Amino acid sequence: MSPTAHVVYGGAAAAVIYPAAGAYSLVFWAASFLIDLDHYFDYVYHNGFTDLSFRKMFDYHNALDAFWFNPAFLNIEMFHTVEVMLPLYLLTAWTGSALLLAVFFGFVFHIALDMVYLYRNGIFFMRAYSITEYFMRMRAIKEKGYRPEEILEAVFSDINGRDKRA
Ligand SMILES: [Zn+2]
Repeated sequence: MSPTAHVVYGGAAAAVIYPAAGAYSLVFWAASFLIDLDHYFDYVYHNGFTDLSFRKMFDYHNALDAFWFNPAFLNIEMFHTVEVMLPLYLLTAWTGSALLLAVFFGFVFHIALDMVYLYRNGIFFMRAYSITEYFMRMRAIKEKGYRPEEILEAVFSDINGRDKRA
């Protein structure tokens, strides 16, 4: 789902909870779209930290869309995993912090929207929701003879070539 859509849906939900949550609804709203900052880490990690451009991060993710139905493709976004969400939940419960609770619900709201979006596009399982799941499925993909690195090579030659043509 696009960042703009997340800002709009998150803003609508924040408006609904504002009477009850007050200023925390703004924290909820910010969390509901800032969680996608992990897409930036995804980009810089996969280019080996050779490029930090924010614009090219969008090019990278747009180019990846073409491989949604490729059997070698599997996506993971760090903040969208149980390994991040579970500790965040435990920390929230342990501290009883209203601020962390607003962040937690913002993240949950966002991930739920993503799941609906992915499901509707027939690609619910294109994303791994756990780091363990990701490594297990990646190993299975490679064992079947698929080469995920070819997708990255194609994506990077596409977005870097675009740069030269521009
Ligand atoms: Zn997301």
